Amino acid sequence: MANPPIPVRVAVVGAGFSGIAMALRLKRAGLADTMTILEAAEDIGGTWRENTYPGCACDVPSHLYSLSDEPYDWPRLYAHQPVIQAYLHHIVESHDLGRHIRFSTRVLSQTWDHAQAHWDLLLEDGETMQAEVVINAVGPLSTPAFPDLPGQDTFAGRSFHSSAWPADLDLHGTRFGIIGTGASALQIVPAIAGQPDHLTVFQRTPAWVLPRPEYTFSRAERWLLRNVPAAGKALRQGINAAVEHLVWRVLAMGEDAQARAVASGMWNIRHGISDPALREAVTPTLAPGCKRLMFSNTWYPTLERDDVTLETTAIEAVTAEGVRLADGRTAQLDVLVYGTGFDAHHFWFPMEIVGQDGRRLREEWADGGKAYMGTTVTGFPNLFFLLGPNTGTGHNSVMLMAEAQADYIIGALRFLQEGAAAWLMPTARAYQAFADEMAARHDDLVWATGCGSWYLSDSGVNDTIYPGQVRDFRRRLGRFDIEAYTSGQRVTAGA
Ligand code: NAP
Repeated sequence: MANPPIPVRVAVVGAGFSGIAMALRLKRAGLADTMTILEAAEDIGGTWRENTYPGCACDVPSHLYSLSDEPYDWPRLYAHQPVIQAYLHHIVESHDLGRHIRFSTRVLSQTWDHAQAHWDLLLEDGETMQAEVVINAVGPLSTPAFPDLPGQDTFAGRSFHSSAWPADLDLHGTRFGIIGTGASALQIVPAIAGQPDHLTVFQRTPAWVLPRPEYTFSRAERWLLRNVPAAGKALRQGINAAVEHLVWRVLAMGEDAQARAVASGMWNIRHGISDPALREAVTPTLAPGCKRLMFSNTWYPTLERDDVTLETTAIEAVTAEGVRLADGRTAQLDVLVYGTGFDAHHFWFPMEIVGQDGRRLREEWADGGKAYMGTTVTGFPNLFFLLGPNTGTGHNSVMLMAEAQADYIIGALRFLQEGAAAWLMPTARAYQAFADEMAARHDDLVWATGCGSWYLSDSGVNDTIYPGQVRDFRRRLGRFDIEAYTSGQRVTAGA
């Protein structure tokens, strides 16, 4: 008879989308009794809890941007933030995951104890806890990035990051400004236009914005998708096939696909804007996809409104009155929003992560994050990352990546549960070979064509995006490949 599984205590850090996906997988694998999800905030949801700005929605269709085995009654193709947050609550409640979540519990450090083969976690309230396995699921878009502009503290009006939109904000009668023209600004500006007396958009680099195939499902379609599981699955597979082939080819620099993206973006500009000077100001010079491809039918028409100004002169400083431009003019403002994105490279490091022999992850990743299969790190046994280095996608749903990682991690946990080892980590060779492969494959993709974006680390390394199709990543993580790992037992007393 097989031995009973060895209990393995698992700490999941973060109850955002990927942390919830992991918790569900752990529960289904029979590990609910030994798992704890540590969440710094008072609610689940991560980025979908934090980002409540007007117009906030997902730009990946919801039937794909959801868990593969948790269908939902999505009202439209691209769900808005409150619906996504409700979906996450629905999963947590219907699977009774809430009892495993400790809210208002911020992890300050994770330190590996090799003799005991466990992690010591230091929590903000001074408490310590131990877990054999730590799974970090803190989300790459959790740390707001602010520009390096002088005078930001001097602004006399209200200013905040797009991910910290105040619930009580009334924009009527204000002079409103937003720095940045990324995915967040693209949703905010059309959603609020008409409320402020005047709205100024500060653009530094125009990026490609393609038409968005908006669609609201009819009652009959929703009934079908709810009651015929095969219909929802077929829709999901259809969207997946479309983005894996059509959009991926843009990122892989397929000449035909790049040309089609340019034509589509140019059509969107011509269709949305009549003023030739404004058309020129928003026309990108970068290859489509180098900065994240964006989709909107309302962005360009909004920029042409009489009460909206697109400001393309470089920003020199923020002052008490507003934003001073390089030509000496000042845009007078009452509200200034930083739509300046997120730091997708140092977001792990409000936490100190110390592995074997005192190795510090912060130092190991100083030139860019590296993780074997985007998930494990040599020198850091029993430590896993969800949506870690090189697991993002510029064309598909990142939840497909997180789910593949969660299954892979369950494979590793099975190995530990069998007692074959108390700890495991990728061999230095496997780890480096994977990192080298990531770098080499990026050479042929759109991010190597020379534009700045949040995808690149300070040293210009793309350590955020997986340089391939999602199905390639999922195939590789389909089995936990113990042969790429080194493992061992805990050092017992007297040994
Ligand atoms: P982002 O795409 O990184 O855009 C930041 C913007 O701020 C860029 O336009 C950037 O200009 C500008 N900026 C930064 N520093 C500046 C400075 N000193 N002066 C002037 N402009 C400056 O950030 P985001 O819009 O928050 O989006 C981040 C990511 O979040 C997206 O790519 C997407 O993955 C995700 N997101 C998704 C959705 C969705 O699903 N619809 C919505 C929001 C966010 P440069 O281009 O010149 O650097």
